[in-house]
Amino acid sequence: NTFAAIDLGEQLNQNIRRCKYVKPTPVQRHAIPIVLGGRDLMACAQTGSGKTAAFCFPIISGIMREKYVQRPRVARTVYPLALILSPTRELSCQIHDEAKKFSYQTGVKVVVAYGGAPINQQLRELERGADILVATPGRLVDLLERARVSLRMIRYLALDEADRMLDMGFEPQIRKIVEQMDMPGRGTRQSMLFSATFPREIQRLASDFLSNYIFLVV
Ligand code: AMP
Repeated sequence: NTFAAIDLGEQLNQNIRRCKYVKPTPVQRHAIPIVLGGRDLMACAQTGSGKTAAFCFPIISGIMREKYVQRPRVARTVYPLALILSPTRELSCQIHDEAKKFSYQTGVKVVVAYGGAPINQQLRELERGADILVATPGRLVDLLERARVSLRMIRYLALDEADRMLDMGFEPQIRKIVEQMDMPGRGTRQSMLFSATFPREIQRLASDFLSNYIFLVV
C-alpha cells in the first residue's frame, strides 16, 4: 500500500519519493494497477482525488519503456506517444507542471498546448519533440490541421474532466481528435476517461472511445 511497492521504473519511483508521495490515494491505488495491466479505464473521480498522478504514473512508466520506438521523420511534425486532453488552460498547465516533475530525468519529454494564447511559442516548443502532449481540444485540432502534430503513434490517451469538456462544447473536437487515432493502420492504444459525473453523454463517450474498460468509482 505504498508507491515503493509498485514497480513504475526506478527513476519514476525516485521522482515520486522526491515529491513526497508515499501512500497512493484511493483512485491511484485502483487505477494504476488497472492501467499497468493493460486495461482501459473509466474513472469517476473528483478534483483533489489525486487523479493527475493516477493517469500520469502509468503513462510515464509506459513511455519510459517505449520512447525509443521508431517514429516517422517529417519536418515540423511531432509524433507524441501519449495525449492528455483537458478542458482549460489552467488545468493543462497544472497537469504539465506535475507531469514534468514526475518525468524528471526519465528522458520523457512533456509539452503543453492550449488555446487563448499565441501559438508560435507552442509551435517552437513542439518542434523540439514531445513524448507526452497535454492539450486543450480546440488548440490540438488547430495543430492537427496545420500538420504540426500527428496522432498516429499515440499509445496512451487520457481525457481529464471529460464532463467539463462536454459542458464547454468540446465534443466535436474530441471526436475529431480520437478519430485520427482510430484510423486503419494505427497501433493499439490504451485509453482512460476521468469524469466527476457519469451522465449518459459520458457513458456514450466511454463506449465509443474505450475498449473492454474497467469502471472505477472512488
Ligand atoms: P489532483 O486531484 O490530481 O489535482 O491532486 C490533488 C493534490 O494532491 C495535488 O496537489 C497533488 O500533488 C496531491 N497528491 C496527489 N496524490 C498524492 C499522494 N499520493 N500523496 C500526497 N499528495 C498527493
